Amino acid sequence: MVCPGPSERFDELQQIAVDHFWPHSQQVAELSRPGGLNIVERGEGCWVEDIDGNRYFDLISGMQLQNVGYGRREIAEAVADQLVKINYAPEHTTSEPALRLVERLAALAPDKESRVFLVSGGSEGIETALKMAKKHHKLRGDSGRYKVISRTGSYHGGTLATISLGGGAGAGDKDFGPLMPGNVHISMPNPYRCLYCSQSGECTLQCGEDVERAILDEGPELVAAFVAEPLSAATCTVPHPDYWPTVRSICDRYGVLIIADEVVTGFGRTGKMFASEHWALAPDILVGAKGLSSGYLPIGAAIATKKVADIFVGGDGEMFRHIFTFGGHPAACAAALANLDILEREGLIENSAKMGRYLYDQAHTLYEHPIVGDVRGGLGLLCGIELVKDRHTREGFPAEAGLGRRITAAFFRHGLLARQRGDTIFLIPPLIVTRGEIDYVVGQVDKVLSDVERELA
Ligand code: PLP
Repeated sequence: MVCPGPSERFDELQQIAVDHFWPHSQQVAELSRPGGLNIVERGEGCWVEDIDGNRYFDLISGMQLQNVGYGRREIAEAVADQLVKINYAPEHTTSEPALRLVERLAALAPDKESRVFLVSGGSEGIETALKMAKKHHKLRGDSGRYKVISRTGSYHGGTLATISLGGGAGAGDKDFGPLMPGNVHISMPNPYRCLYCSQSGECTLQCGEDVERAILDEGPELVAAFVAEPLSAATCTVPHPDYWPTVRSICDRYGVLIIADEVVTGFGRTGKMFASEHWALAPDILVGAKGLSSGYLPIGAAIATKKVADIFVGGDGEMFRHIFTFGGHPAACAAALANLDILEREGLIENSAKMGRYLYDQAHTLYEHPIVGDVRGGLGLLCGIELVKDRHTREGFPAEAGLGRRITAAFFRHGLLARQRGDTIFLIPPLIVTRGEIDYVVGQVDKVLSDVERELA
């Protein structure tokens, strides 16, 4: 349902936004343009309503985090109860929800004897893991290791250290450089775009071997960690079955720690609790955030194996000097515990696997549009569609075509909140999505693509 026009309340709020609001990664000038400011008011299940009563299907799960869906009173009540009991654990104390949560996360993690450092989001989690990795090596007497290998086009957060890693979505070096010293970027698994795979027609795991090449080029005694998403939410490409076993054995050979960024993929998004499980990957540090509370409150966790964490047990010198005021906030932990209860009780991880397969199959029908170059995904509800000017040459659209602007406008017109980055559009619904909703969503994306094709023709 799309309502006739903006209300007086919208106009008033828009003026406030134009005068004072600093949006995240959006041009301020857009706030005064039609469609440039969207103010949501309520949500239920997979659906969101704006202040004028327009309803949208949330095909990006908030920001890839709305795993249990909107409007969960059970989580709100757990949070309210906790806030009334005690809203903050003073310095050098902790709370029962924080302890219950770390116990639960350790039980879910690949290493059941893990130790968990609670933070407030993904960037803080990755920052924490980087510092853990560096100090871990120092405590082992291997103090030269400061370099970090990551993959071009990945995204690991918005802070200065984390934007140093990917060189993906952020402006990185161009706007904020020079960045963290010792960043080494290698290629991401993507057979459609890989020079070797696309030419030979078969994967020779060059992207996995790149990890070893980078370690040897940089000097193994200087490399602290390899950071990557087990399944990249930036591309939605499922890696070759041997990718992670290959990378794990390379990293073990050279004493390099693996930091698995499961900020998006954790807590059921790929049809397993953690995406690492698809390849029996045992990361040294696993970082989770978004789906840990499904966005009900900000929380994240850096989960270190016993082997990594034990080195920090000792005296003052061994201690991990690292603190965030809001890390492990009792109410956020209560929200996370209630969220995990729902995930498990309602079988949402199984639903993610089942509906993810259905979504991926249905998305293949979109190949009838000549601009669809590649449909990616198949593991859980993480599906990406790359749009190209020419499917055979894989040539993308030139910037002048304004693909992003056209796609975004068409999504809104067809009642979808969805993400487009570069030439890729993402289908990432909440894990509660039904078959009927997937049929609806794919039908709407079909209309979006028809509109864009018409405009570009
Ligand atoms: N890692 C990945 C893979 C992400 O997608 C994001 C955010 O989108 C982050 C880390 C950073 O998380 P946050 O925005 O909670 O700091």
